[in-house]
Amino acid sequence: MKQTLVVVLLLMVGTVSAQWSPQRVDSLPLDELKPSSRNHFLLKMGEEAAGVAQEVPVIVIRGRQALPVLGIFAAIHGNEVNGIQVIRELVNGLDPKEFKGTLIAVPGLNIPALRNNQRTYPDGVDLNRIFPGKAKGNGSQQYVWQITQKLLPSLDYLVDLHTASFGRENCLYVRADFSNPKIAGLARSQLADVYLNSGGKPSAGAAASGLTMRAQAMGMGISAITVEYGSPQVYQKEMLQKGLPGLRNTLVHLGMLQGEVQPVPEPVFCKKSYWIYTTQGGYLDVQVNLKEKLTKGQVIAVLRDPFGQTKQTYYSPEDGIVIGRSSNPINESGGRIIHLGIRD
Ligand SMILES: [Zn+2]
Repeated sequence: MKQTLVVVLLLMVGTVSAQWSPQRVDSLPLDELKPSSRNHFLLKMGEEAAGVAQEVPVIVIRGRQALPVLGIFAAIHGNEVNGIQVIRELVNGLDPKEFKGTLIAVPGLNIPALRNNQRTYPDGVDLNRIFPGKAKGNGSQQYVWQITQKLLPSLDYLVDLHTASFGRENCLYVRADFSNPKIAGLARSQLADVYLNSGGKPSAGAAASGLTMRAQAMGMGISAITVEYGSPQVYQKEMLQKGLPGLRNTLVHLGMLQGEVQPVPEPVFCKKSYWIYTTQGGYLDVQVNLKEKLTKGQVIAVLRDPFGQTKQTYYSPEDGIVIGRSSNPINESGGRIIHLGIRD
């Protein structure tokens, strides 16, 4: 009796792990997937020095019908991990039998950067500034080229999940081109604190030599948005609690899940945004909170020297809302203070 039980248990464990063990592929075999199936892949992006494949884990939920195809990608910046937990809970809560269309979920796109706990690819390049990449370029260019060739072409829609960078924090906000009705609909389905109209360019800095993934996708005819979830290198419960129903709402909006689209209670739309920077070095005390509505002339931060003397006080140059803020007091000249959204 005991032996039978052990055999049955082993068989059960075997069945579960076989279902979950990924298939190694050079391209996603989307046309070969069974209707109503969940599929795990390790998609080859290149090779490491020892000749071992450099692979990205991909979860594909193939519903009763193949279309539309939605991509939800997290962590093209390797330290922006909140989206990973949101994708995990989203896909684990889906029943492929009740699902329409295909969801291509990538819980960690920039694997070499994830491994190093850093934003950029190991060669120091920001992958989200060099799309479409190059087939025979350097390491980061080839990696991006693989994304452009192997992950983007099958998509109708793309939701690209980010967080703030090191030393900063964001509210839950969406960057999207609201002049495009399909993209605006995708953006509005998120349960976000702020909806920012933006054509696909980076929010600040970055002498970009190429496009963001969102801009690349839009150029390929894909309706694409970026969603920013909080702070880097951490799983935040609040972001899971708001991000997950937002993405489920997206699935309902696209007809991939049954249900009613939940409207956002008090949406805040911004027509533009910009960062305000320090002009001297010092210890920065940001005095406004995320989502706080600011009036022109309001104190936003005080910069002090190491002895505690005030060097400079910074004020809001116009009315707006705090989309992001510095969380790191240590600042050289040109340190970021707040990301100010200007309301529509
Ligand atoms: Zn990012």
